[in-house]
Amino acid sequence: MFETTIAGSLPKPFWLAETDKLWPAWKAAGAELEKAKRDATLLWLKEQEDAGLDIVTDGEQSRQHFVHGFLESVEGIDFEHKVKMGIRNNRYDAMVPVVVGPLRLKGRVHQTEARIARAHTTRQLKITMPGPMTMVDTVSDSHYRDKAKLAMALAELLNQEARALEVQGVDVIQFDEPAFNVYMDDVKRWGIEALHRAIDGLKCRTAVHICYGYGIQANIDWKKSLGGQWRQYEEIFPALAKSRLDQVSVECMHSHVPMSLLKLLGGKDVLVGAIDVASDRVETPEEIASLIAEATKYVPKEHIFACTNCGMAPMKREVAVAKLQALAAGAALARERLA
Ligand SMILES: [Zn+2]
Repeated sequence: MFETTIAGSLPKPFWLAETDKLWPAWKAAGAELEKAKRDATLLWLKEQEDAGLDIVTDGEQSRQHFVHGFLESVEGIDFEHKVKMGIRNNRYDAMVPVVVGPLRLKGRVHQTEARIARAHTTRQLKITMPGPMTMVDTVSDSHYRDKAKLAMALAELLNQEARALEVQGVDVIQFDEPAFNVYMDDVKRWGIEALHRAIDGLKCRTAVHICYGYGIQANIDWKKSLGGQWRQYEEIFPALAKSRLDQVSVECMHSHVPMSLLKLLGGKDVLVGAIDVASDRVETPEEIASLIAEATKYVPKEHIFACTNCGMAPMKREVAVAKLQALAAGAALARERLA
């Protein structure tokens, strides 16, 4: 009950990449970079284990960015001539690569980090990948020229990689879909269908993470514009409840999402975001336990997991470690009180 895990990413150590950045430059290249990624992956496995987390991740140490890290392994995408594009419905501009031809995987995407992680932890292992809709929203497309078609093409590639990760012994495969909170109609039209394509044939647990974004200024400003109650989840949860995904990871701590919306996820495991990634203030176990107690009003206890609101990639390393410890302590306190 109340098993603990994180949304996925963790800060990169200063010797691997620039710190406190969402698109950090690597500090090494070639074989040295590969070694640095390996060491960083091991470091974060150990930190997660020491903090007491039940389901650990590779901390996304091997990818520069959660979307482009996947796209770099895809043929048919031009990374040489990136274009500036407003993403998440023009919330902020990003330099994005361009889809210029039919998409194919060049090879495995996360094989190395999955192998390293699997070899060095006996805990449950989660690997995250960007969801099809969020990828569609983070590339420019001059080939498919149809969002749903592009999403299905990407989902096919995600499925190939997911099946291979499952064979490597990964326990949970999660797709990150922050775009689900932005294009709610498309979620129902083709977003969930694309996820179904991505999980086709998998026997391991599958999850979708839907948040209000990393703790960067553009997201903080956007959240301020959403009013006193954030009800985006209300539009998509009923469709997700009917989906074939096992778990839904949501943002709760310090968010204006009414907790009662969680009951719309009937039957799913709910990864309750109990760590705010937009603030350096470390939550107390008491705050986390109270939030979990609130969630139990709407979700059966056995379906509740304690998680972070979003990835911690752009945070300070010491803060992230302290938040991992708080998460585990908070879940333990909730277990004590509510078992
Ligand atoms: Zn997120």
